[in-house]
Amino acid sequence: MKFDTVFIDRDGTIGGNGHYCSVEDFVLFEHSLASIQLLKEKGCRVFALTNQTKISDGTMNEEELRCSLLAMGFTDVFICPHHETEGCHCRKPKIGLIEEAENKYLFERKNAVIIGDSYKADMGCAKNSQIVGIHVATGRDAEDKSLCHAHECLEVADIYEAAQWIVAQNSKTN
Ligand SMILES: [Zn+2]
Repeated sequence: MKFDTVFIDRDGTIGGNGHYCSVEDFVLFEHSLASIQLLKEKGCRVFALTNQTKISDGTMNEEELRCSLLAMGFTDVFICPHHETEGCHCRKPKIGLIEEAENKYLFERKNAVIIGDSYKADMGCAKNSQIVGIHVATGRDAEDKSLCHAHECLEVADIYEAAQWIVAQNSKTN
């Protein structure tokens, strides 16, 4: 099996509009839950991977966010709660959250995928950690095609197409 570990961004990738959204107001896209479920049924661990600056100023509660993501079916949740100015090592495109996942679960980066809507944060994190990046056109960078040339990543329409691509790669016999 080529890919056994899938990291998925929250805002703009599984719902919302790519910008901050509270746990209460967050609306999932139509096929997000089915996509998470499909990947898990096919034997992948599926991790949420999200920067949430609003935790650092108390606007968002980290535990509530974690619970809401686990309720969507994620195997585990990796959150950067810091503000950009704090200079932490876990805010995407830095790779601290990937390292945290590696310390907790056994997987190889070559068998992992990062799915996200942000070229800078998500595809940047994919590049920095040398993990395959899949960009979805549902969030904040959907219209800015100029950015896609800066990153080597796969372009798909949405989370469901990303999940289907992963499953198709895994079902290849060679
Ligand atoms: Zn952080």
